Amino acid sequence: MKCYLCNAIISGRYYRDGHGNCICASHYEQKEAVQCFSCGAFTYNSPEFTLLDGRHLCPVCMAQGVNSVEQIQRIKKQILYFFANEDIFFHNRTLDDVSINIVGVTEIARMRNSSISLANKGVTITKSMSSLIGMALGQKSKMTHSVYILDHLIKIEFAATLAHEFMHIWQNENGVKLEPKKCEGLCNLGSWLIYNKITSANTPYLLKSLMENPDPIYGDGFRYVYNRYQELGTEGILNLAIKGNL
Ligand SMILES: [Zn+2]
Ligand SMILES: [Zn+2]
Ligand SMILES: [Zn+2]
Repeated sequence: MKCYLCNAIISGRYYRDGHGNCICASHYEQKEAVQCFSCGAFTYNSPEFTLLDGRHLCPVCMAQGVNSVEQIQRIKKQILYFFANEDIFFHNRTLDDVSINIVGVTEIARMRNSSISLANKGVTITKSMSSLIGMALGQKSKMTHSVYILDHLIKIEFAATLAHEFMHIWQNENGVKLEPKKCEGLCNLGSWLIYNKITSANTPYLLKSLMENPDPIYGDGFRYVYNRYQELGTEGILNLAIKGNL
């Protein structure tokens, strides 16, 4: 077996990444090698491929980060198309009034009022505005949503993160109030649906990370919602969420 990084025949201990690449144990133990934040593949630990927030990326993922308005719009359309097939709709079906911004990790932490963590790849801020006249007429308050997504995410990772945030918008628009575990679990079901629609070399790795996430909120929450989804399908689960019975 050849080492993925130095190409030498591996004779002793080795490590294997989620893609099946094996490397000599010494590379990893001496920190010459790290795992790519996005795809999990082993890669050389080099300043050129390390972001200011400490994320290591492999050269492939480094070159593929979503960063243009056109890319964001394309991904957004894809998600809305797949969601519509699952009967997940929004009040404004095209979500063209939702701003989607790519920001750094500090900005995400500031928006979430939490400490800096690379586990948070996105956040949605929903504001409700009601005019006095509208209130007198019994109209619902108008909501505006802003989505913030971490910079340098590869397309499939960006799409899954955006799908997660869109599920927060769906919950906010439908007045759904769930405990954090079920709320984030339902949002992660949005990511899961996207992983099952958009195939890429990295989809299996990211899907596995989602399914096996040890986090008590995001991981256990997802597995709870996923089991209910297996029984009830999307429509059933969304109805339960609206009734507050999920
Ligand atoms: Zn090696
Ligand atoms: Zn990578
Ligand atoms: Zn969330």
